[in-house]
Amino acid sequence: MSSIDRILEQTLAGNRLSVEDCVALYESDQIEKMGHAANQMMLRYHPDPITTFVIGRNVNYTNICDVYCRFCAFYRAPGSKEGYVLPDETIFQKIQETIDVKGTEILMQGGTNPDLPFTYYTNILREIKARFPEITMHSFSPAEIMKMKEVSEGLTLEEVVRALHEAGLDSLPGGGAEILDDRTRRKISRKKGSWTEWMDVMKTAHRIGMNTTATMVIGFGETYEERAMHMLRVREAQDECIRAGHPSEGFLAFISWTFQPDNTNLKAEKLGAEDYLKNVAISRLMLDNIKNFQSSWVTMGPEVGKQSLHYGCNDFGSTMIEENVVSAAGTTHKVNIGSTLDLIRQAGKIPAQRNTRYEILRMFDDENVKVENDFVMQN
Ligand code: SF4
Repeated sequence: MSSIDRILEQTLAGNRLSVEDCVALYESDQIEKMGHAANQMMLRYHPDPITTFVIGRNVNYTNICDVYCRFCAFYRAPGSKEGYVLPDETIFQKIQETIDVKGTEILMQGGTNPDLPFTYYTNILREIKARFPEITMHSFSPAEIMKMKEVSEGLTLEEVVRALHEAGLDSLPGGGAEILDDRTRRKISRKKGSWTEWMDVMKTAHRIGMNTTATMVIGFGETYEERAMHMLRVREAQDECIRAGHPSEGFLAFISWTFQPDNTNLKAEKLGAEDYLKNVAISRLMLDNIKNFQSSWVTMGPEVGKQSLHYGCNDFGSTMIEENVVSAAGTTHKVNIGSTLDLIRQAGKIPAQRNTRYEILRMFDDENVKVENDFVMQN
């Protein structure tokens, strides 16, 4: 039995992957075996052949940012003539349009805008929830939360997160994790914040009863060991949440993709589909305490997205209407809801629309039923 077979067998028997095992898997090219094992792990949480997706919209409320990530084509520096903050009415209109196509989730995501006071966030959340009580606000990455803490002038991190939650923030997306290791983070931006800051925001959210997600981006020139440490840190935080009995499910999902170096100021070798699929499989095996793994078809393309459903993913992510942060670097793949259903079916799965908590809202198990409110994504 090869060492890879042994690692996979032991993992499926309940022995958790160590950092060394993880590195051995990255060094191996036996990705089909890893995919098969990851699929087995996925089936423990999701025995039915269903692939879920959420209909949501990414509202980039501001492009002003003072983190200056070297890969980001979206941001404008404070004071730039091209900087914007969307008028409140525009945000409301985008939410209404989302609800009109049976969307349930809004991902407000922007730069870390030093000119917006903390009350901007609590006021807009309250106003959104008053107008659209049915919408789920899955918004603001840890970097934005840290900026809110800074502009709040004196609130603790917990007070900031609590105030946002009380104003209407339902859950936190895990954007900006990149690689949870400070060597890589400093390469991306000197102002990126440490991995512990990212994790502190997530742990605080879990403690006060909010769910979050975790992301991972590979391809910044990180070592395999650094990738393994990223996963270990997420796994330990999830263990901590479960052990403490926090009123939250912790990380509800894990989402990874590869860094797309084209049109960016960060030079790196572009990783391919195999690197992505291997990472999906290894993360599913390593993170045995996280239920849902999202496919990253927006970045990786629909065909690879389809393949990832056989490497441990059970979810097709969001049929997002806007994705300006990714599309500014030129990698948006436009998919309408009809194509989402087609791709999931082509992968041999039954599509189902879910909400942000991963509860199924409607099944698309009859291929002859026409999709109502089909829409084409627009930027
Ligand atoms: S990726 Fe986000 S934090 Fe980094 S510069 Fe762009 S908007 Fe700012």
